Amino acid sequence: MRRHTLVHSDGRRLYVYGELRGELPPAEPTQAPPALHLRRDPLTGGWVAVSPARNTRPQTGHADAEPDAEPDPVPDAEADPVPEADPDADADADPVPDADPDPDDVAHAGPAPARPACPLCPGGPEVPFSYEAAVFENRFPSFMAHPPAPPFPGWAGGVDVLQTAPSKGRCEVVLYTEEHDGSLATLSPEQVCRVVAVWRDRSIDLWSDPDHVVVLVFENRGEAVGATLSHPHGQIYAFTHLPRMFRERVDAGTRHREATGRCLGCDLVTADDEATERVVAKNDSFVVATPFAARWPYEIHVRARRHGVRRLGDLGTGEQLDLAQALRDVVLRYDGLFGFPLPYMMVAHESPGVPGPAGRGPDPDWHLSFEFFPPHRSPTKLKVRASVETATGIFINDTLPESSAAALAAVEVEHSRWPDRCVADIFTGGGLADRPCHPASPPTDRAADRAERADDHDQKRTTT
Ligand SMILES: [Zn+2]
Ligand SMILES: [Zn+2]
Repeated sequence: MRRHTLVHSDGRRLYVYGELRGELPPAEPTQAPPALHLRRDPLTGGWVAVSPARNTRPQTGHADAEPDAEPDPVPDAEADPVPEADPDADADADPVPDADPDPDDVAHAGPAPARPACPLCPGGPEVPFSYEAAVFENRFPSFMAHPPAPPFPGWAGGVDVLQTAPSKGRCEVVLYTEEHDGSLATLSPEQVCRVVAVWRDRSIDLWSDPDHVVVLVFENRGEAVGATLSHPHGQIYAFTHLPRMFRERVDAGTRHREATGRCLGCDLVTADDEATERVVAKNDSFVVATPFAARWPYEIHVRARRHGVRRLGDLGTGEQLDLAQALRDVVLRYDGLFGFPLPYMMVAHESPGVPGPAGRGPDPDWHLSFEFFPPHRSPTKLKVRASVETATGIFINDTLPESSAAALAAVEVEHSRWPDRCVADIFTGGGLADRPCHPASPPTDRAADRAERADDHDQKRTTT
């Protein structure tokens, strides 16, 4: 699978994966940069992303309306980077227009308008032609590669408590498929593998920018978390400040290493394996479990087993296949839990960039995890982050994680065939782009993955 890089006339990049079936129109109205910036919260030292242009974006829902953006990336801010699941709030929105489109009043430039009202379908303003998978830079981003200068808080009276900074980073939208209806549960195994491969390719590319401290692959699914269109898609943010929750995880791993001499991620995998009442599913490369201290009623973590898998780029081909299987399995279980597609927030926790002996790099004890936060606590009730949880960060979970795991594990999941041949083609068929997918030498097959895991396990035993 190849990656083709196109550029919209306003400078935003469009990455088309697989076959390139069209081109961008030569001229489009260019957009003035949004007046976005960061404000440092003097009470916490964290950063809040201010993106006022989001409120001036078109609200018509027409095909030329702007994709919405995740409004709460909150780099290093007081708030949890996991957005609140307030069903009444216009929070945590989807990167698509949030008004009801009028299909009769939409103009299209492309040849294959599968769904005229959907800006993510072929023929829309972002990808005017048929595609297999694609990624584009958000039209109204909260973070930009070249952000405008921030306003100077002159009203601070010279007191150094009010600070601003440029909103440097990236906001990308990942289109899993050109088909309008679907999800990670209904995409074919090959399509889910392709999504993993696209995430990995974008992650490696975004980590190549030395300014990026966090690369966050995520998906908001369902209106309960602000996603108003069902077109299968997710987003990727990259930013240059370390959020509080990431710093806390790094610190926890450091403390565990100092106290025990062992890797916290490895120990969590062992704990999940042994605490079978929290395990929902497992495979060679990932353990799928409700976390011991789950904050959300049906929260699930999909954690990499192998020490050394800190980011998506560290995954070998067999591990990518196992990740695709595990994620599809989770969403199938969510959909079977209450009998409808369960809304969720899904975040890939790659190791942030932390200072080390050779400069900033991944935390050696970090294990890649995909974490799901569905807001539902029953078929009809949503968990809302209310006063205590918002003010203190202390979550109150009215569900036993062990009970949730049992309910999710009991969902009957129809297992699909995962032909190795197709997967091998996707992951190794000449590479994703015109460069190697991995800067080092990842394992190239599942046997190599297992060998590396065994080696690592032996090493762990001899060192601990
Ligand atoms: Zn669509
Ligand atoms: Zn480890």
